Amino acid sequence: MSFPALVEPAAELTTDEVRRYSRHLIIPDVGMTGQKRLKNAKVLVIGAGGLGSPALLYLAAAGVGTLGIAEFDTVDESNLQRQVIHGVSDIDKPKGQSAKESIAEINPYVEVVLHPERLDNDNVFSVFEGYDLIVDGTDNFATRYMVNDAAYFLKIPYVWGSIYRFDGQASVFAPMLGEDLPCYRCLYPEPPPPGMVPSCAEGGVLGVLCASIGAIQVNEAIKLLTGIGDPIAGKLMIYDALEMEYRKLKVRKDPSCALCGENATVTGLIDYDAFCGAVSDEAAEAAVGSTISVVQLEHMLKERDNGERDFVLVDVREPNEAEINHIPGAVLIPKGEFLNGNALSQLPSDKQIVMHCKSGVRSAETLAIVKGAGYADAVHVGGGVVAWVSQIDPSQPTY
Ligand SMILES: [Zn+2]
Repeated sequence: MSFPALVEPAAELTTDEVRRYSRHLIIPDVGMTGQKRLKNAKVLVIGAGGLGSPALLYLAAAGVGTLGIAEFDTVDESNLQRQVIHGVSDIDKPKGQSAKESIAEINPYVEVVLHPERLDNDNVFSVFEGYDLIVDGTDNFATRYMVNDAAYFLKIPYVWGSIYRFDGQASVFAPMLGEDLPCYRCLYPEPPPPGMVPSCAEGGVLGVLCASIGAIQVNEAIKLLTGIGDPIAGKLMIYDALEMEYRKLKVRKDPSCALCGENATVTGLIDYDAFCGAVSDEAAEAAVGSTISVVQLEHMLKERDNGERDFVLVDVREPNEAEINHIPGAVLIPKGEFLNGNALSQLPSDKQIVMHCKSGVRSAETLAIVKGAGYADAVHVGGGVVAWVSQIDPSQPTY
């Protein structure tokens, strides 16, 4: 499906600009009008990291007149493996500033607007306001859902991309451009349970994958801005770098979508950290290398029954939750007891402590407390009782 161009053409290109963009101008579909549209375009790129780096470089080179960069982080040496807009001399510099300097070197006709604050519910509307298009290079689920919802409310289309190890995905979410077009929530109504999907910082990413997916995002951005071709709104691009395989799946609008469906329940910004079960830095750190799966837990419980090993399984949820469903053999000590310090006296000092909650957020927090108290071999169960019911014991209800 093609769409009308998002941007009206600028009045004119200067002689210097005509020379610079000549390889675009001689493509009939782009031509003078298309290049003038790019000159007039205002594009916000969220994140100057793995996806944002190649996206910003190519959007700038293509002649997008105004580029916003929403980025609060600073350049770290470990970024340079893939975040190609930054260099060695940029280490410890704000990423937005570093990106702005690289863009000035590539194309001085681009105006760069820095948004150095962390995007949140208080500033997301004012940051997004006035942009024609957003390119989302966010690496966490809370921000992704916030970007989707804010863009929907402001009626700004956006190009989404995600990367992990050798796999990438990309799509255009633009329900404002057509009644049948989905939003991100139509594709992913709920975030994965915390701890189930590792971040690139935990799981790694092949550096060049950023270029593959970032380039698709820029490609789609240029098509939308200039009104050429068939943007991937309503489709999901899936890229497998190991098999060198691109697949394009149809994504339908979900009539019951909480945001863009007929009976929408999300009518304003929500608490995205709570929705996505974001964990504190301490909890995330404690969970690295100390998270077991429900399959591992089932195996451990069998060994405990056989007397081959011993450990204490602690359910850190509230009593009313434990009445709905439970993992057999768990003792209930609510999270509050860990926070006030009472729980530690109830734990044996000579046994491994294994903790679970509903989805793995609260148990990651109690894991940090228990590890801090000296239980070095303590672990928690990724996905919690939700994963237990779905993978091990579907006979129990969920809530
Ligand atoms: Zn939707």
